[in-house]
Amino acid sequence: INKINFVNEPVLKYEKGSPERIELEKELKAMKTSFADIPVIIGGKEIRTGNKGSCILPHNKNMVIGEFHKASKKEVEMAVEEALKAKKEWEKMNWQSRVAIFLRAAELLSGPWRAKFNAATMLIQSKTYKQAEIDSACELADFFRYNASCLPQIYAEQPISPDKIWNKIEYRPLEGFIYAVTPFNFTAIAGNLPCAPAMTGNVVVWKPASVAVYTAYIIYQLLKEAGLPDGVINFVPGNADEISDVVLKNEHLSGIHFTGSTKVFHNMWTAVGNNISNYRSFPRIVGETGGKDFIVVHNSANIHSASRGIIEGAFEYQGQKCSAASRVYVARSIWPSIKEIIIKKAADIKVGDVEEIDTFMGAVIDQKSFNNIKNYIDYVKNSDEAEILFGGSCDDSKGYFVDPTIILTKNPHFKTMKEEIFGPVLTIYVYDDEKFEETLDLVDSTTNYGLTGAIFAKDRYAINAAEEKLVNAAGNFYVNDRPTGAVVGQQPFGGARQSGTNDKAGSKINLMRWISPRVVKETL
Ligand code: GLU
Repeated sequence: INKINFVNEPVLKYEKGSPERIELEKELKAMKTSFADIPVIIGGKEIRTGNKGSCILPHNKNMVIGEFHKASKKEVEMAVEEALKAKKEWEKMNWQSRVAIFLRAAELLSGPWRAKFNAATMLIQSKTYKQAEIDSACELADFFRYNASCLPQIYAEQPISPDKIWNKIEYRPLEGFIYAVTPFNFTAIAGNLPCAPAMTGNVVVWKPASVAVYTAYIIYQLLKEAGLPDGVINFVPGNADEISDVVLKNEHLSGIHFTGSTKVFHNMWTAVGNNISNYRSFPRIVGETGGKDFIVVHNSANIHSASRGIIEGAFEYQGQKCSAASRVYVARSIWPSIKEIIIKKAADIKVGDVEEIDTFMGAVIDQKSFNNIKNYIDYVKNSDEAEILFGGSCDDSKGYFVDPTIILTKNPHFKTMKEEIFGPVLTIYVYDDEKFEETLDLVDSTTNYGLTGAIFAKDRYAINAAEEKLVNAAGNFYVNDRPTGAVVGQQPFGGARQSGTNDKAGSKINLMRWISPRVVKETL
């Protein structure tokens, strides 16, 4: 059986005058001076419904670089039909041919399509070039290649056959179709959620996040260019509730691949539960949801690496990673030094237009998100349980800008220590050094989330205690590093508890969810 060697896509530097920088600048300009008209795509056919949404730059909200057509109930029903039609051929295709399409997509993405992906992610999701490069170019190519490399390992596993018996396992796709619902914050995730099931022979109805349809459409075009047959993935932007209402009632729904909020995931489970006796098979539900990710700083920590971890973990991509650090517990004896360093680092952060090379933070994604974050900051301003140590100002006159904001509270159960804000807002609680173990219990019990977390310490006993006590508090746990930036093939990503089903994006565990094995025993 074939072997596919996996190597992470190298992260490019974008130095002034470098070929990648020149290409990127060209692409940014081209995108801003043209206007996209993005259709619904079903069975490979483009449909323009006329009910349109806009593609807006969050950091320059009056700039619109395209429009997308929204699917209505009718198109969603057609998408399911076309997916099931395409399934007949697609599931019969040998896996080597299927995989070739995604390996080709990775080649295009890391080469000629790289600038296009990064430019779109910068403009539409307001990422800096650094954040765009690790997400849309590298991580998506890594997902394609790493998942491809897992397939021969999965398919190679066969049962034993004693004398006069011949046993085999066929790694078949699920019987119906998969519903992929993708988020705005990672282009890589938007690509991985429909593609992981497709790679294992499934067909997909894909609903991309409305604020990032522009980028999702480029992913669709890439797949088409790489040779994905029509109907295998059907591109259905539009109103999430309306689309889910049709899809989740369909008897052929066999799986959901989701990244988004815990609340929306709850609603999906409820809808599936309400329809459970109507489905031909129990839908596999795979989701990555919210987080309230922590950093614990022990008094043995290197204060400089801890401070860097806090700032990068909390404020890269404006805190809009599910993995972003948003509650930090610092030992009292080192707090004065940490405080001084992080305030200085926060003051050095440049917030602004992501096209400027030294910008560290762009805008948050949209008005709704801006208002939500601002409400939290206003809540803190009016509270006597917390104070704002740094930042706290928000300005939506040009784009949805929120300053990096650091809050200090004496109450470890304060609202911003518990609730996911999904913005550049970090809350700090200072604990007494001798209460380290109790603080770990506090970290574990404060929220129901279990996505990511980190400990900064040199003391091995402290590291071990954190690893043991926080075993369910973080599906991805980091020692002496920030809790963000999982790399495909190195730190498979996903959380438990209310943060998701922990089926690790970019892993055999995830791919197995889209496979329904059949065992055949033959008596010889
Ligand atoms: N995988 C990303 C990271 O490790 C986070 C993914 C997400 O925000 O959903 O930072």
